[in-house]
Amino acid sequence: MRVIVVNSGSSSIKYETFDLKSLTAASKGLLERIGTEDSRLRHQWLTPAGRWEEIVETRPVVGHREGFSFILEVSGRSRSGSEPPEIFGVGHRVVHGGEKFSEPVIIDNAVLRAIEELIPLAPLHNPANLMGINVMRDLLPRVPQVAVFDTAFHQTMPPRAYHYALPYDFYRTYGVRRYGFHGSSHRYVAREAARHLGVPQDKLNLITLHLGNGASATAIKQGKSIDTSMGLTPLEGLIMGTRCGDLDPAVHFYLARKTGRAVEEVEGILNKESGLRGICGSNDMREIQERAQKGDARAELAVEMFCYRVKKYIGSYYAALGTIDAVVFTGGIGENSALVRTRTCKGLSGLGITVDESRNSAAAGGIREIQTGESRIRILVIPTDEEREIAQQTVEIIERVKGRAR
Ligand code: AMP
Repeated sequence: MRVIVVNSGSSSIKYETFDLKSLTAASKGLLERIGTEDSRLRHQWLTPAGRWEEIVETRPVVGHREGFSFILEVSGRSRSGSEPPEIFGVGHRVVHGGEKFSEPVIIDNAVLRAIEELIPLAPLHNPANLMGINVMRDLLPRVPQVAVFDTAFHQTMPPRAYHYALPYDFYRTYGVRRYGFHGSSHRYVAREAARHLGVPQDKLNLITLHLGNGASATAIKQGKSIDTSMGLTPLEGLIMGTRCGDLDPAVHFYLARKTGRAVEEVEGILNKESGLRGICGSNDMREIQERAQKGDARAELAVEMFCYRVKKYIGSYYAALGTIDAVVFTGGIGENSALVRTRTCKGLSGLGITVDESRNSAAAGGIREIQTGESRIRILVIPTDEEREIAQQTVEIIERVKGRAR
Protein backbone atom coordinates (compact mmCIF):
# COMPACT_ATOMS: atom_id res chain seq x y z
CA MET A 1 0.00 0.00 0.00
CA ARG A 2 1.11 3.52 -0.77
CA VAL A 3 0.63 7.04 0.56
CA ILE A 4 0.67 9.86 -2.00
CA VAL A 5 1.87 13.36 -1.10
CA VAL A 6 0.79 16.20 -3.37
CA ASN A 7 2.13 19.74 -3.42
CA SER A 8 0.05 21.56 -5.98
CA GLY A 9 1.39 25.03 -6.86
CA SER A 10 0.09 27.67 -9.23
CA SER A 11 2.09 26.38 -12.22
CA SER A 12 3.61 23.17 -10.90
CA ILE A 13 2.66 19.87 -9.24
CA LYS A 14 5.17 18.10 -7.04
CA TYR A 15 4.32 14.61 -5.79
CA GLU A 16 5.87 11.66 -4.03
CA THR A 17 4.58 8.23 -3.12
CA PHE A 18 5.68 6.33 -0.02
CA ASP A 19 5.47 2.75 1.08
CA LEU A 20 2.90 2.72 3.89
CA LYS A 21 4.87 0.51 6.30
CA SER A 22 8.39 1.86 5.92
CA LEU A 23 7.50 5.40 4.78
CA THR A 24 10.32 5.19 2.27
CA ALA A 25 9.91 6.87 -1.11
CA ALA A 26 8.74 4.66 -4.00
CA SER A 27 8.28 7.26 -6.74
CA LYS A 28 8.28 11.02 -7.12
CA GLY A 29 8.05 13.71 -9.72
CA LEU A 30 7.63 17.31 -10.68
CA LEU A 31 5.45 18.77 -13.40
CA GLU A 32 6.45 22.34 -14.22
CA ARG A 33 5.19 25.16 -16.44
CA ILE A 34 1.51 24.13 -16.31
CA GLY A 35 -0.49 26.35 -18.65
CA THR A 36 2.21 26.48 -21.33
CA GLU A 37 2.98 24.63 -24.57
CA ASP A 38 6.00 22.94 -23.05
CA SER A 39 5.03 21.65 -19.61
CA ARG A 40 7.79 19.35 -18.44
CA LEU A 41 7.28 16.26 -16.32
CA ARG A 42 10.10 14.46 -14.60
CA HIS A 43 8.86 11.20 -13.08
CA GLN A 44 11.24 8.99 -11.08
CA TRP A 45 10.68 5.59 -9.53
CA LEU A 46 12.57 3.03 -7.51
CA THR A 47 13.00 -0.27 -9.32
CA PRO A 48 12.80 -3.62 -7.48
CA ALA A 49 16.62 -3.71 -7.87
CA GLY A 50 16.81 -0.53 -5.75
CA ARG A 51 17.83 1.84 -8.56
CA TRP A 52 16.09 5.12 -9.39
CA GLU A 53 14.94 5.41 -13.00
CA GLU A 54 13.26 8.34 -14.69
CA ILE A 55 11.12 9.51 -17.58
CA VAL A 56 11.27 13.15 -18.70
CA GLU A 57 8.56 14.30 -21.07
CA THR A 58 7.36 17.64 -22.41
CA ARG A 59 3.91 18.42 -23.84
CA PRO A 60 1.26 21.17 -23.72
CA VAL A 61 -0.72 21.06 -20.44
CA VAL A 62 -3.58 23.56 -20.09
CA GLY A 63 -4.42 23.13 -16.42
CA HIS A 64 -4.09 21.06 -13.27
CA ARG A 65 -6.65 18.43 -14.28
CA GLU A 66 -4.70 17.66 -17.46
CA GLY A 67 -1.52 17.84 -15.39
CA PHE A 68 -2.67 15.06 -13.05
CA SER A 69 -3.80 12.92 -16.03
CA PHE A 70 -0.34 13.38 -17.57
CA ILE A 71 1.30 12.27 -14.31
CA LEU A 72 -0.99 9.22 -13.99
CA GLU A 73 -0.32 8.20 -17.58
CA VAL A 74 3.46 8.46 -17.24
CA SER A 75 3.57 6.76 -13.83
CA GLY A 76 1.41 3.96 -15.27
CA ARG A 77 3.97 3.51 -18.04
CA SER A 78 6.78 3.28 -15.49
CA ARG A 79 5.08 0.24 -13.94
CA SER A 80 5.20 -1.47 -17.34
CA GLY A 81 1.84 -3.17 -17.09
CA SER A 82 1.91 -4.29 -13.43
CA GLU A 83 -1.12 -3.54 -11.22
CA PRO A 84 -1.23 -0.05 -9.70
CA PRO A 85 -0.53 -0.17 -5.94
CA GLU A 86 -3.44 0.30 -3.54
CA ILE A 87 -3.59 3.84 -2.11
CA PHE A 88 -4.03 4.23 1.67
CA GLY A 89 -4.39 8.00 1.59
CA VAL A 90 -3.38 11.23 -0.09
CA GLY A 91 -1.69 14.02 1.88
CA HIS A 92 -1.98 17.52 0.44
CA ARG A 93 0.35 20.31 1.40
CA VAL A 94 -1.82 23.34 2.11
CA VAL A 95 0.01 26.57 2.77
CA HIS A 96 -2.43 28.48 4.97
CA GLY A 97 -4.57 26.95 7.68
CA GLY A 98 -5.11 30.25 9.53
CA GLU A 99 -6.19 29.83 13.16
CA LYS A 100 -8.66 27.16 12.20
CA PHE A 101 -6.23 24.29 11.68
CA SER A 102 -3.62 23.36 14.25
CA GLU A 103 -3.47 19.74 13.04
CA PRO A 104 -3.87 17.83 9.79
CA VAL A 105 -7.49 17.04 8.89
CA ILE A 106 -9.32 14.61 6.67
CA ILE A 107 -10.80 16.69 3.88
CA ASP A 108 -14.58 16.98 3.61
CA ASN A 109 -16.73 19.73 2.14
CA ALA A 110 -16.53 21.83 5.31
CA VAL A 111 -12.71 21.67 5.26
CA LEU A 112 -12.71 22.65 1.59
CA ARG A 113 -14.86 25.67 2.39
CA ALA A 114 -12.55 26.66 5.25
CA ILE A 115 -9.46 26.47 2.98
CA GLU A 116 -11.34 28.60 0.48
CA GLU A 117 -12.20 31.16 3.14
CA LEU A 118 -8.49 31.46 3.92
CA ILE A 119 -7.62 32.45 0.33
CA PRO A 120 -7.28 36.17 1.21
CA LEU A 121 -4.38 35.23 3.54
CA ALA A 122 -2.61 33.15 0.84
CA PRO A 123 -3.98 34.35 -2.50
CA LEU A 124 -1.32 32.61 -4.58
CA HIS A 125 -1.05 29.32 -2.70
CA ASN A 126 -4.40 28.17 -1.29
CA PRO A 127 -6.25 28.27 -4.66
CA ALA A 128 -3.52 26.13 -6.26
CA ASN A 129 -3.61 23.72 -3.31
CA LEU A 130 -7.41 23.48 -3.68
CA MET A 131 -7.08 22.62 -7.35
CA GLY A 132 -4.89 19.64 -6.44
CA ILE A 133 -7.34 18.51 -3.76
CA ASN A 134 -10.36 18.72 -6.06
CA VAL A 135 -8.71 16.77 -8.86
CA MET A 136 -7.42 14.03 -6.54
CA ARG A 137 -10.85 13.70 -4.87
CA ASP A 138 -12.38 13.15 -8.32
CA LEU A 139 -9.68 10.69 -9.35
CA LEU A 140 -9.67 8.69 -6.09
CA PRO A 141 -13.14 9.24 -4.57
CA ARG A 142 -12.89 6.40 -2.04
CA VAL A 143 -9.40 7.26 -0.75
CA PRO A 144 -9.12 9.54 2.33
CA GLN A 145 -7.60 12.90 1.44
CA VAL A 146 -5.78 14.82 4.15
CA ALA A 147 -4.78 18.48 4.34
CA VAL A 148 -1.47 19.15 6.09
CA PHE A 149 -0.98 22.85 6.75
CA ASP A 150 2.32 24.75 6.64
CA THR A 151 1.06 26.99 9.41
CA ALA A 152 -0.28 24.28 11.77
CA PHE A 153 2.94 23.56 13.68
CA HIS A 154 3.14 27.21 14.77
CA GLN A 155 -0.36 27.37 16.20
CA THR A 156 1.21 26.70 19.62
CA MET A 157 2.82 30.17 19.63
CA PRO A 158 1.66 32.24 22.59
CA PRO A 159 -0.19 35.54 21.96
CA ARG A 160 2.87 37.60 22.88
CA ALA A 161 4.71 36.00 19.94
CA TYR A 162 1.96 35.99 17.34
CA HIS A 163 0.40 39.44 17.80
CA TYR A 164 1.59 42.49 15.96
CA ALA A 165 1.51 45.77 17.86
CA LEU A 166 -1.27 47.10 15.66
CA PRO A 167 -4.80 48.21 16.55
CA TYR A 168 -6.28 45.04 18.07
CA ASP A 169 -9.27 45.18 15.79
CA PHE A 170 -7.12 44.36 12.74
CA TYR A 171 -6.52 40.98 14.35
CA ARG A 172 -10.17 40.40 15.21
CA THR A 173 -11.59 41.60 11.92
CA TYR A 174 -8.94 40.70 9.37
CA GLY A 175 -6.88 37.98 11.05
CA VAL A 176 -3.74 40.14 10.99
CA ARG A 177 -1.25 38.20 13.14
CA ARG A 178 1.84 36.10 12.72
CA TYR A 179 1.14 32.55 11.50
CA GLY A 180 4.54 31.20 10.46
CA PHE A 181 5.24 28.72 7.64
CA HIS A 182 7.60 25.83 6.77
CA GLY A 183 5.82 23.95 9.57
CA SER A 184 6.33 20.50 8.07
CA SER A 185 10.08 21.08 7.74
CA HIS A 186 10.55 22.42 11.28
CA ARG A 187 8.43 19.59 12.68
CA TYR A 188 10.32 16.98 10.68
CA VAL A 189 13.79 18.09 11.75
CA ALA A 190 12.62 18.41 15.37
CA ARG A 191 11.38 14.80 15.21
CA GLU A 192 14.66 13.68 13.64
CA ALA A 193 16.73 15.61 16.19
CA ALA A 194 14.85 13.88 19.02
CA ARG A 195 15.42 10.49 17.42
CA HIS A 196 19.10 11.21 16.82
CA LEU A 197 19.72 12.50 20.35
CA GLY A 198 17.65 9.72 21.93
CA VAL A 199 15.58 12.28 23.87
CA PRO A 200 11.76 12.48 23.76
CA GLN A 201 10.60 15.42 21.67
CA ASP A 202 8.70 16.95 24.57
CA LYS A 203 11.96 17.22 26.50
CA LEU A 204 13.87 19.08 23.78
CA ASN A 205 14.46 22.79 23.28
CA LEU A 206 15.70 23.60 19.79
CA ILE A 207 16.35 26.44 17.41
CA THR A 208 15.63 25.08 13.94
CA LEU A 209 16.94 27.01 10.94
CA HIS A 210 15.37 26.18 7.58
CA LEU A 211 17.72 27.98 5.17
CA GLY A 212 16.78 27.52 1.53
CA ASN A 213 15.39 29.78 -1.15
CA GLY A 214 12.70 30.45 1.46
CA ALA A 215 14.15 30.69 4.97
CA SER A 216 12.78 30.70 8.49
CA ALA A 217 13.90 30.12 12.07
CA THR A 218 11.78 28.52 14.79
CA ALA A 219 12.11 28.42 18.57
CA ILE A 220 10.90 25.01 19.79
CA LYS A 221 10.22 24.53 23.50
CA GLN A 222 9.57 20.98 24.65
CA GLY A 223 8.67 19.96 21.13
CA LYS A 224 6.32 22.89 20.44
CA SER A 225 6.84 25.99 18.32
CA ILE A 226 6.81 29.07 20.56
CA ASP A 227 8.05 31.56 17.98
CA THR A 228 8.98 31.64 14.32
CA SER A 229 10.40 34.23 11.98
CA MET A 230 7.78 34.25 9.20
CA GLY A 231 4.63 36.21 9.93
CA LEU A 232 1.28 36.96 8.33
CA THR A 233 3.00 35.92 5.11
CA PRO A 234 6.35 34.24 4.34
CA LEU A 235 7.89 37.68 3.73
CA GLU A 236 8.92 38.38 7.33
CA GLY A 237 12.08 37.28 9.09
CA LEU A 238 15.31 36.00 7.59
CA ILE A 239 16.83 37.22 4.32
CA MET A 240 15.72 34.82 1.58
CA GLY A 241 16.52 34.14 -2.07
CA THR A 242 14.27 36.92 -3.35
CA ARG A 243 12.35 38.06 -0.22
CA CYS A 244 13.60 40.88 1.96
CA GLY A 245 12.65 39.48 5.38
CA ASP A 246 12.44 41.95 8.30
CA LEU A 247 12.07 45.54 7.17
CA ASP A 248 11.03 48.86 8.65
CA PRO A 249 7.37 49.09 7.54
CA ALA A 250 8.04 52.73 6.65
CA VAL A 251 10.12 51.52 3.70
CA HIS A 252 6.89 50.49 1.93
CA PHE A 253 5.22 53.87 1.97
CA TYR A 254 8.50 55.77 1.54
CA LEU A 255 9.20 53.75 -1.62
CA ALA A 256 5.64 54.10 -2.90
CA ARG A 257 5.74 57.87 -2.39
CA LYS A 258 9.26 58.39 -3.75
CA THR A 259 8.97 56.18 -6.83
CA GLY A 260 5.27 56.56 -7.55
CA ARG A 261 4.90 52.76 -7.61
CA ALA A 262 1.59 51.13 -6.73
CA VAL A 263 1.31 48.98 -3.59
CA GLU A 264 1.20 45.82 -5.74
CA GLU A 265 4.46 46.79 -7.42
CA VAL A 266 6.19 47.38 -4.10
CA GLU A 267 4.81 44.03 -2.89
CA GLY A 268 6.28 42.36 -5.98
CA ILE A 269 9.68 43.97 -5.40
CA LEU A 270 9.81 42.90 -1.75
CA ASN A 271 8.85 39.32 -2.66
CA LYS A 272 10.62 38.72 -5.94
CA GLU A 273 13.43 41.22 -6.41
CA SER A 274 14.83 41.57 -2.91
CA GLY A 275 16.73 39.28 -0.52
CA LEU A 276 19.97 37.85 -1.88
CA ARG A 277 18.93 38.74 -5.41
CA GLY A 278 18.28 42.35 -4.47
CA ILE A 279 21.65 42.72 -2.80
CA CYS A 280 23.89 41.02 -5.36
CA GLY A 281 21.77 40.06 -8.38
CA SER A 282 21.60 36.31 -7.71
CA ASN A 283 19.48 34.15 -5.40
CA ASP A 284 21.67 31.08 -5.80
CA MET A 285 23.83 30.80 -2.68
CA ARG A 286 26.30 28.45 -4.37
CA GLU A 287 26.99 30.99 -7.09
CA ILE A 288 27.08 33.85 -4.58
CA GLN A 289 29.70 32.05 -2.48
CA GLU A 290 31.85 31.44 -5.55
CA ARG A 291 31.64 35.09 -6.52
CA ALA A 292 32.43 36.19 -2.97
CA GLN A 293 35.48 33.96 -2.93
CA LYS A 294 36.74 35.70 -6.08
CA GLY A 295 36.42 39.07 -4.36
CA ASP A 296 32.98 40.23 -5.53
CA ALA A 297 32.05 42.80 -2.83
CA ARG A 298 28.26 42.62 -3.33
CA ALA A 299 28.27 38.83 -3.16
CA GLU A 300 30.34 39.04 0.02
CA LEU A 301 27.88 41.56 1.47
CA ALA A 302 24.96 39.25 0.62
CA VAL A 303 26.56 36.30 2.48
CA GLU A 304 27.45 38.51 5.44
CA MET A 305 23.95 39.98 5.70
CA PHE A 306 22.32 36.56 5.34
CA CYS A 307 24.40 35.02 8.13
CA TYR A 308 24.15 38.06 10.40
CA ARG A 309 20.36 37.98 10.22
CA VAL A 310 20.29 34.27 11.12
CA LYS A 311 22.70 34.89 14.00
CA LYS A 312 20.44 37.63 15.40
CA TYR A 313 17.52 35.18 15.38
CA ILE A 314 19.59 32.56 17.20
CA GLY A 315 20.31 35.16 19.89
CA SER A 316 16.72 36.25 20.27
CA TYR A 317 15.31 32.70 20.27
CA TYR A 318 17.93 31.68 22.83
CA ALA A 319 16.55 34.44 25.03
CA ALA A 320 12.96 33.37 24.31
CA LEU A 321 13.71 29.72 25.18
CA GLY A 322 16.00 30.33 28.17
CA THR A 323 17.90 27.14 27.53
CA ILE A 324 18.52 25.14 24.37
CA ASP A 325 19.79 21.65 23.58
CA ALA A 326 20.64 22.08 19.90
CA VAL A 327 20.70 24.37 16.91
CA VAL A 328 19.56 22.57 13.76
CA PHE A 329 20.55 23.60 10.22
CA THR A 330 18.42 22.39 7.33
CA GLY A 331 17.26 23.41 3.80
CA GLY A 332 19.44 23.69 0.67
CA ILE A 333 21.76 26.28 2.25
CA GLY A 334 21.60 24.99 5.83
CA GLU A 335 22.44 21.44 4.76
CA ASN A 336 25.10 22.25 2.17
CA SER A 337 26.87 25.49 3.00
CA ALA A 338 29.66 25.01 5.54
CA LEU A 339 30.53 28.67 5.04
CA VAL A 340 27.07 29.88 6.06
CA ARG A 341 27.05 27.61 9.13
CA THR A 342 30.50 28.85 10.17
CA ARG A 343 29.70 32.52 9.74
CA THR A 344 26.32 32.22 11.40
CA CYS A 345 27.79 30.62 14.52
CA LYS A 346 30.92 32.80 14.62
CA GLY A 347 31.16 34.68 17.90
CA LEU A 348 28.50 32.58 19.65
CA SER A 349 30.89 30.65 21.90
CA GLY A 350 29.67 32.81 24.80
CA LEU A 351 26.28 31.17 24.30
CA GLY A 352 27.88 27.71 24.23
CA ILE A 353 27.69 27.36 20.44
CA THR A 354 31.02 26.50 18.77
CA VAL A 355 31.47 24.91 15.35
CA ASP A 356 34.21 22.33 14.77
CA GLU A 357 35.60 23.36 11.40
CA SER A 358 36.74 19.94 10.22
CA ARG A 359 33.41 18.32 11.15
CA ASN A 360 31.57 21.20 9.54
CA SER A 361 33.39 20.99 6.22
CA ALA A 362 33.48 17.18 6.01
CA ALA A 363 31.44 15.97 3.04
CA ALA A 364 28.86 13.66 4.60
CA GLY A 365 25.21 12.88 4.11
CA GLY A 366 22.52 12.17 6.67
CA ILE A 367 22.30 13.65 10.15
CA ARG A 368 25.54 14.93 11.60
CA GLU A 369 26.87 16.89 14.55
CA ILE A 370 29.30 19.71 13.84
CA GLN A 371 29.99 21.21 17.29
CA THR A 372 33.36 21.08 19.06
CA GLY A 373 33.93 18.88 22.09
CA GLU A 374 33.63 21.97 24.33
CA SER A 375 30.44 23.28 22.75
CA ARG A 376 27.67 23.14 25.39
CA ILE A 377 25.04 23.11 22.69
CA ARG A 378 24.87 20.58 19.90
CA ILE A 379 24.88 21.87 16.36
CA LEU A 380 23.10 19.47 14.02
CA VAL A 381 22.81 19.32 10.24
CA ILE A 382 19.62 17.43 9.36
CA PRO A 383 18.40 16.93 5.78
CA THR A 384 14.77 17.96 5.72
CA ASP A 385 12.02 15.92 4.07
CA GLU A 386 8.74 17.81 4.07
CA GLU A 387 7.04 15.21 1.86
CA ARG A 388 7.87 12.41 4.26
CA GLU A 389 6.59 14.47 7.18
CA ILE A 390 3.33 15.07 5.30
CA ALA A 391 3.11 11.33 4.53
CA GLN A 392 3.63 10.48 8.20
CA GLN A 393 1.02 12.97 9.38
CA THR A 394 -1.39 11.71 6.74
CA VAL A 395 -1.02 8.14 7.97
CA GLU A 396 -1.32 9.18 11.63
CA ILE A 397 -4.55 11.12 11.17
CA ILE A 398 -6.21 8.46 8.98
CA GLU A 399 -5.33 5.74 11.50
CA ARG A 400 -6.57 7.87 14.40
CA VAL A 401 -9.90 8.56 12.69
CA LYS A 402 -10.30 4.91 11.62
CA GLY A 403 -9.51 3.83 15.18
CA ARG A 404 -12.21 6.16 16.52
CA ALA A 405 -14.72 4.78 14.01
CA ARG A 406 -14.04 1.17 15.03
P1 AMP B 1 16.12 24.95 -1.24
O1 AMP B 1 15.12 26.05 -1.49
O2 AMP B 1 16.00 24.34 0.12
O3 AMP B 1 16.16 23.94 -2.33
O4 AMP B 1 17.58 25.64 -1.27
C1 AMP B 1 18.07 26.30 -2.39
C2 AMP B 1 19.32 27.08 -2.01
O5 AMP B 1 20.32 26.18 -1.52
C3 AMP B 1 19.95 27.83 -3.19
O6 AMP B 1 20.33 29.13 -2.79
C4 AMP B 1 21.18 26.99 -3.49
O7 AMP B 1 22.21 27.75 -4.09
C5 AMP B 1 21.56 26.56 -2.09
N1 AMP B 1 22.53 25.45 -2.12
C6 AMP B 1 22.35 24.20 -2.58
N2 AMP B 1 23.52 23.50 -2.52
C7 AMP B 1 24.44 24.35 -2.01
C8 AMP B 1 25.85 24.25 -1.70
N3 AMP B 1 26.52 23.12 -1.90
N4 AMP B 1 26.46 25.33 -1.17
C9 AMP B 1 25.79 26.48 -0.97
N5 AMP B 1 24.48 26.65 -1.23
C10 AMP B 1 23.82 25.60 -1.75
